Amino acid sequence: MITMPYNTPYPLFANGRYERIPLKEIARAGSALDARLWSARLSTGLLGSTNCDSGNRGPKEYGEILLALGDEGLRKLVELGFIPCSSCRPETTDTFWDIVAAEVAEKYHLYSREDFTNKDILPYDARRVQWEEIIPHIGKAPGRLYVPQGLSQKEVAELAERFAALSLDTVPSIGFYDRETAAKFTAYDI
Ligand SMILES: [Zn+2]
Repeated sequence: MITMPYNTPYPLFANGRYERIPLKEIARAGSALDARLWSARLSTGLLGSTNCDSGNRGPKEYGEILLALGDEGLRKLVELGFIPCSSCRPETTDTFWDIVAAEVAEKYHLYSREDFTNKDILPYDARRVQWEEIIPHIGKAPGRLYVPQGLSQKEVAELAERFAALSLDTVPSIGFYDRETAAKFTAYDI
């Protein structure tokens, strides 16, 4: 049985460009090339496995993820500002660090896998993502953006302005992870 999401076109970065193709074709392309498929979650700015339990818990509608194929795709996600998911820990795969080390060094001046994955050094913060490059290709923003708690009004406004400049029909709700609430998310007032 074919389920809906399998036929839904998803944004994919492969072979140097952005495309929108159905998930089943993406899976086929991946196995044909023997290339790994990576998933970047736009709300949180995290990259990881397409099978990640944590990554699959939230909404997976169009506008929530960007897929990327192979080593080139992984390097692209790092360049775009995504950092490794602490649930599926993509950095524990054999070749991960070799693939991204040069990009991480150039972008963050970090020179070890441990530093790159240390959330005290590179915290969860969707402001890091290069939205200005990604959104025109996807045409839609995620519903939420997870940024640190305790940002100033000015810092939140700066992020909101970046999205306002992208001329979208709907802009994301900007907030932070909040375990005390049912939605696990508290939005900033803008
Ligand atoms: Zn994950």
